[in-house]
Amino acid sequence: MRIETPRKRRRRYAVEAPFPEQWRTLLEADMAHWRWLDDDERDHLECLIKGFLFDKGFEWIDGLEESNEIKVLVTASACLLILGLEQAYYRDVTSIIMYPTQTTQKGRRGAPEAAGLATDAIVPILGEAMLHGPILIAWDSAKRSAAHSNTGHNVIYHEFAHKIDMADGSADGLPPMAKAQKDRWEEVCRREYEALRDGTNDEPFLSTYGAVNPAEFFAVATEFFFDRPIDMETHRSDLYEVMSGFYRQDPAERERRNGDRGR
Ligand SMILES: [Zn+2]
Repeated sequence: MRIETPRKRRRRYAVEAPFPEQWRTLLEADMAHWRWLDDDERDHLECLIKGFLFDKGFEWIDGLEESNEIKVLVTASACLLILGLEQAYYRDVTSIIMYPTQTTQKGRRGAPEAAGLATDAIVPILGEAMLHGPILIAWDSAKRSAAHSNTGHNVIYHEFAHKIDMADGSADGLPPMAKAQKDRWEEVCRREYEALRDGTNDEPFLSTYGAVNPAEFFAVATEFFFDRPIDMETHRSDLYEVMSGFYRQDPAERERRNGDRGR
């Protein structure tokens, strides 16, 4: 018989508690992709959100005040990525540090989101994911990207994709996955990354920030996969197929069913 520790029991109670109606209202209003989900997906996401909020702490920087709105929106966006996976992919997320707006950083550490390539200059960053460490996110950018679909940009997806990639201890664009998926993944992602880097795609699609290195490629591909899924399926079908196989989600189908374009 397995013994449930007090912490596990408290976590189970937190996950079993009803999902607050005001959180649902908030997500319905502020998260475009929440509105794409069907009832089963929404139920599952609500459980992941409650578990994540039990497990993870938020820190508030530069005068940004603690708020449930921020916690719930960031958590829902983060957990959408692992809707078909397991929460273990976020074991390495120590905390989420929220800034009111973009911050600056000198040079490059970890995976900062600068507009250019490696530099020693002071650069603006919207977010950062640190290996075995916290995630930094600029709230204004996060709120904007959550509200609108089909932009191809979402700082929350981007930073949490880095964490999924880092779940095996390295930021190399190859997240932990079954051996059977790996060969096809490596073949497609290498080809797509090199074409983006060399500018040889006849149909440019992904943001060129994905050409910085394979880790950025995976983070940028994740943003497009969840935010412009029909476009990715149309323009980069092989990439869509391996991303869909890894995440075990079909956001293009979701967009066809419920996306704003269908209205
Ligand atoms: Zn990045």
